[in-house]
Amino acid sequence: MAKVSVIVPAAGAGERFDRKGNKIFQRLKGQPVFIRTLEAFAPRDDVCQVQLVAAAADMPQLKERFGGNLSLLGVTLVVGGATRAESVRNALVNVADEAELVCVHDAVRPCVSQLWIDEVFKQAEKTGAAILAWPLHGTLKRVSDQSTVAETVARADLWEAQTPQVFRKDILQKAYARGDLADATDDAQLVEATGRQVSVVMGDPRNIKITVAGDLALAAAVINTLPKPKLKGPQHPFAEAQ
Ligand code: C5P
Repeated sequence: MAKVSVIVPAAGAGERFDRKGNKIFQRLKGQPVFIRTLEAFAPRDDVCQVQLVAAAADMPQLKERFGGNLSLLGVTLVVGGATRAESVRNALVNVADEAELVCVHDAVRPCVSQLWIDEVFKQAEKTGAAILAWPLHGTLKRVSDQSTVAETVARADLWEAQTPQVFRKDILQKAYARGDLADATDDAQLVEATGRQVSVVMGDPRNIKITVAGDLALAAAVINTLPKPKLKGPQHPFAEAQ
């Protein structure tokens, strides 16, 4: 089993989220969103390292309120950058020597299930680069000025990239060293730009990204449909909240 270093970017400004404060601290079934996300990875036997990349402004709260919990989960904190890619890069330089694969998973996708993680880890071990994605089923419109249809976009072959996105360590490091980080909204596009093929693993529409406040209720409903994660031991810091 390849060892995996997990990077969880959580340093976004959350401009589309219509509530005060970083959405990672919002409660989802009694737990902060980011804790639920970290719990999907930290207890896994194949995970050897978890880094949470957070905004400098959130560090005091993370350390004071959640420091004990983070250390029990074995999670280290890294200060984020101005863009998602810069945040990931700040953690990429600390990846443990023993890690063969690096997994990047957005803090705001707390509904990720063990089954989907298993599948994308397995595929990345096989091909060196794999992402979860989901084919688009609706009719797509390009809209101008938020109000008028400019055109209908052909949807054939269009998929929405999700996370986790998982890569062999050297492949991702090379992609980040060479890539144009300013325009990258996911990690795969930096790897694609190096000419390497990225495998697609069928994701699930329930792997939602919490973007607006209404997504919290949707995520809570989704979690009710998923198998409960297996936690390690009764002393687990969030066992009571499950
Ligand atoms: O902005 P976007 O929705 O793509 O954010 C995806 C993830 O990247 C979120 O978890 C967010 O907190 C994180 N992010 C980050 N640093 C930034 C911008 C976004 O860690 N500068």
